[in-house]
Amino acid sequence: MSDPSDKRAKAERVAALRPAYRADLAAGPARFLGARRTTCPWCGSHKLSDRLRTTDLLQHKPGRFTLDRCADCGHIFQNPQLTEEGLEFYYRDFYDGLGEQRMSGTFGGRGAMYEGRARAMLPHDPAPKTWLDVGTGHGHFCASARTVLPGTSFDGLDFTDGVELAARAGRIDQAHRGAFPDLAPELTARYDVVSMFHYLEHSTDPDRELRAAHEAVRPGGHLLIEVPDPDSRYARLLGRWWLPWLQPQHLHFIPVGNLRRRLTELGFTVLAEQHAEPH
Ligand SMILES: [Zn+2]
Repeated sequence: MSDPSDKRAKAERVAALRPAYRADLAAGPARFLGARRTTCPWCGSHKLSDRLRTTDLLQHKPGRFTLDRCADCGHIFQNPQLTEEGLEFYYRDFYDGLGEQRMSGTFGGRGAMYEGRARAMLPHDPAPKTWLDVGTGHGHFCASARTVLPGTSFDGLDFTDGVELAARAGRIDQAHRGAFPDLAPELTARYDVVSMFHYLEHSTDPDRELRAAHEAVRPGGHLLIEVPDPDSRYARLLGRWWLPWLQPQHLHFIPVGNLRRRLTELGFTVLAEQHAEPH
């Protein structure tokens, strides 16, 4: 963005967006938060404590956010949580609109990482026929994964129009636009692989998403999940500056033991578990 005409164009777009943001904020950002929970959304325990208080450190939109930790199961969650309206407000111009160009630069340049994610599947299924990437955004993972798995048909699911753009650009074969739990009944047992890369932490109800995944994966198929690990050493060392806290977008941080137990209860067999610091 060093070209002065690009700069001018961006300034004009920002100026055009300003009145809508100003109107949204007229009553203050507190209206974007729901009621504070007194129980853990994962296990129902009342033993909650403050884990982190922070602000929007990336987009610098106004608002204050709190993450609570459950003393019984270790689940960490945003409390109070953003409402639907709040999610719309804080996501706006991050992945789409104003932020689209910046984010495509970020995601588009991650080919090697995406190929690594696809290769992680090879020991378990070297040639899946159908793969659904949930929370696919603009489909950049699928586009890279095709170089590793040229015979696989990649579909994408997301609730923004990015998924339709991805289909038109040929990065995915079929676009499913909407919420995964709502779409899952029509996708029953259709996929050899369902992937959720950095998706569950954005969801308002991760347990519902896992049930949807169990529906969409065919018997004997695979589910691939990548989430930030709140038990990571860096989460402790960096405090509020640990990037994966990503407030206010990340609503849930599920300790790996909880995830493993829940997947087993749903009928999955956990085949592999990897830990790595974020890329
Ligand atoms: Zn709990």
